[in-house]
Amino acid sequence: METRLKDVLGHFGPPTFRPGQKEAIEAVYDAFESGKRFVILECPTGTGKSHIGATFARYFNKAHILTVQKILQDQYTRDFGREMFTMKGRGAYTCLVNKDGKSRTCAVGVCRTDPSVHHEDCPYREALRAAQIASITVHNFDSFYYQAMTRAYEPRPLLLVDEAHNIENKFLNFVGFKVSNKKDRRLVIPEYKTLEKYDEFLKKYKDAIYNNVIKKYEDLLADGFEIFGEDADSLVKGYDEAKRLYTRLNLYFSSRETTEYVFDYKNEEGVQSVEFKPLFVGDFVREKLFFYGKRILLMSATFLDKEIFCKSVGIDPEEAEYISLPSYFPIKNRPIVKDYVGSMSYNNINNTLPQMIDKLSEILEDHEGERGIVHTVSEYVANYIKRNLKDPRLTFRRDYLTVNEMLAVHKNKSDSFIVASGLKEGLDLHGDLSRVQVLMKVPYASLGDKRVKRRMEVDKSWYGYMTALSLIQSVGRSVRSAEDHAVTYILDKDFGRFYGMNNRFLPEYIKEAIIDIYTYYDMTGVEIA
Ligand code: SF4
Repeated sequence: METRLKDVLGHFGPPTFRPGQKEAIEAVYDAFESGKRFVILECPTGTGKSHIGATFARYFNKAHILTVQKILQDQYTRDFGREMFTMKGRGAYTCLVNKDGKSRTCAVGVCRTDPSVHHEDCPYREALRAAQIASITVHNFDSFYYQAMTRAYEPRPLLLVDEAHNIENKFLNFVGFKVSNKKDRRLVIPEYKTLEKYDEFLKKYKDAIYNNVIKKYEDLLADGFEIFGEDADSLVKGYDEAKRLYTRLNLYFSSRETTEYVFDYKNEEGVQSVEFKPLFVGDFVREKLFFYGKRILLMSATFLDKEIFCKSVGIDPEEAEYISLPSYFPIKNRPIVKDYVGSMSYNNINNTLPQMIDKLSEILEDHEGERGIVHTVSEYVANYIKRNLKDPRLTFRRDYLTVNEMLAVHKNKSDSFIVASGLKEGLDLHGDLSRVQVLMKVPYASLGDKRVKRRMEVDKSWYGYMTALSLIQSVGRSVRSAEDHAVTYILDKDFGRFYGMNNRFLPEYIKEAIIDIYTYYDMTGVEIA
């Protein structure tokens, strides 16, 4: 066993280990050796978890690596180069045919509306072939899910999922579906009280999609039709959309016996919609994801609780080892300061918001010349700030089409503060891109969401767990290495109550960083008037 462990460690890439990496590799190795199929590895930001994962991918020789975010997939490509093959969806490859003088991706490639066209060297098909034979293939979640549906891949000795705390949400998007009359108001969506009542409507709707869109397109294709230009693109997109919905509807009817679904009817400004989501996604995750690994390594900075995480993705806790690493970042570099202004609960928020504006102004003044981020948690709060605090330093997420556009502006302004309601993940504000984080509200999930409500009825602790998850993700945007530093201010008084009830979900490295404002003043040498 010692020799094999040495062999695993020999597959580590960088010349030296960062704190915690060697210990993590040893613990993961022990867990697999003891016969566990699943290893759940919680590593705080900065541990260098992709190198830990890559060690096992090399050791087991054949591996699928899945990243939830495409940004993370690109990071793997940058860090590991040719050693790993990066596979994306059709939309990432350029079609070889340029029929109407317009370049298009393979997602809407010419062969999709002209059956006489076919290329052996199609960039997408070539990439797929390379992904199938590569020893280590890095996929993003979306492309893997759809390619795996056509059985494009074989199971491998190792399946590694990075940022795996997102698996449940990803599967909710893959399996859940919404029927809306936004594009065609002639469709009348009934409002029923029970799930079963929707059966007839959904069956008719499914048949209509099949006959009016899917079959029509497939018949045209079989007849050798030839359409190109804008019409072809919208035809293909309409077909793909219909096919996705049709597949989900079939899955819904075939899984209803074993899976509880929650539905939500809405009528907003004349647009009717009804959305269906499974309460638990475990059955789907086992069949459509875990099938692809003999051993499964799940990595994230935030799993927080073995039992709840396992239940949410369908893992038997007995089959899994849970390993949680401490943070090696100095506490003084990442204080989380309780600087309460007032309660931001539903009943109190409007009374508290004016004082929040005063506090934000004060923080901006105290951190003159520095950048930061304000997590508003809700758009309501972000809009209130927009209306009531006219400070040119504020860079509002909602003013930009994409996060990248907003980031470019933030980087160009040496004292910019991002104001955003939903940027808790996938944002790397290292170094002086952020020295200050402000959390305006405890990030409770909306109880207006019927699934959240039902899930809470089934398991009360899940709600606190999900809130802790959002909170830690928000706090993790700014301190990205042991040398980096940023202060986080928590302004919502309700954090005290949340902490009292849910601190068991907060990892030690978060708890040890939480201090009150006076301790922070002491630390920083601020004189109190
Ligand atoms: S097979 Fe040919 S036409 Fe079709 S997407 Fe690929 S390159 Fe384009």
